[in-house]
Amino acid sequence: MTHASPMSPIRILRLKDRVGVSLAFATYLGGLGLAWWIAQDRLPSQIGLSLFGHWVGTHSLHDHINNAALIFALLPAVLWIESAAVGWEASSIRQLLVERPASVRTDLACFFLGQAHVLDLVGRVLVLGGSMISGVWVRDWLQARFGLVVDPSGLPFVVQLLAYFYLATFFDYWTHRIDHSRIFWPLHRFHHSAREFAVVTSVRQHPAAFTPIIVVNLPMAILGAPPEVMIYVNVLVVGIGFLIHSKIDSDWGWFGRYVIQSPVHHRLHHKLDMSTPTGHFGMAPIWDRLFGTWYGTADQSLPIGVTARYAHGYFIPRDMVRDYLDFWRGVLGRPNDVPEHPPGA
Ligand SMILES: [Zn+2]
Ligand SMILES: [Zn+2]
Repeated sequence: MTHASPMSPIRILRLKDRVGVSLAFATYLGGLGLAWWIAQDRLPSQIGLSLFGHWVGTHSLHDHINNAALIFALLPAVLWIESAAVGWEASSIRQLLVERPASVRTDLACFFLGQAHVLDLVGRVLVLGGSMISGVWVRDWLQARFGLVVDPSGLPFVVQLLAYFYLATFFDYWTHRIDHSRIFWPLHRFHHSAREFAVVTSVRQHPAAFTPIIVVNLPMAILGAPPEVMIYVNVLVVGIGFLIHSKIDSDWGWFGRYVIQSPVHHRLHHKLDMSTPTGHFGMAPIWDRLFGTWYGTADQSLPIGVTARYAHGYFIPRDMVRDYLDFWRGVLGRPNDVPEHPPGA
């Protein structure tokens, strides 16, 4: 009796790959959960020391641990989804662990320096503390001065979550358009300099790119976004950010065309060819459709990046300093080191 296998050797190999990656992901999640539980259980919520009468440290260590645990769970989840969709050979996780091309090394450096809050501190110095403006202060001031109160607490949580998520994507759309203006482009160019998508590319942001603080965080707080809703809005934004910077070759059908931007639409936003207008600024396509920046679809073969020269690699200050100086040259009306017209301006 002959036994014909229903699967070719290549398909079996892919299946083994997928099972292997899934098992690794499940083991990782278990380890992360255990580390989180031990950290919550054993570490005090307040850690720091008194230096010359000044408190140096954090009063909310558990919040920091929760944020880090969230990112360290979301990122592998998206890497796992992507590897299931495109296969191990073409996946970002393989590129991050095995190949590590120069552009991906920049993404990794940004990710780890971001998690260690180093980029936060550098950003505060570069924008002269401007990023510390708190929307909550402005909201409290408006409330005290004009009696302006927006209180959504009577609405069901899901309604609040969807409403504030779409509000956030509206403000994010306009932040992104501002980032593509002549003045702000050198700071945003750092994100666009990525030569490939590797999921973590979403955190490749210049630390001095401060527009979201003014254009997103301030209005969201003024509009009464409750902190517990904002935590979940943030989870959505971070998770979608990772997904749209993945190699998944799909426009997600009507969902990607109308509800949430797909990876190929975001790829079209990152296109290297600047001879045609740049669109797809919004995480929610509705804003691009409303404001005339929707330009159809593409696929994962579209080359991305910028024409400006980038060193890339783990040592990121070189490119960051050049972009920061270019930003100030633009502000002062001096010619740029890297003459390049901003896409979408
Ligand atoms: Zn952009
Ligand atoms: Zn992007």
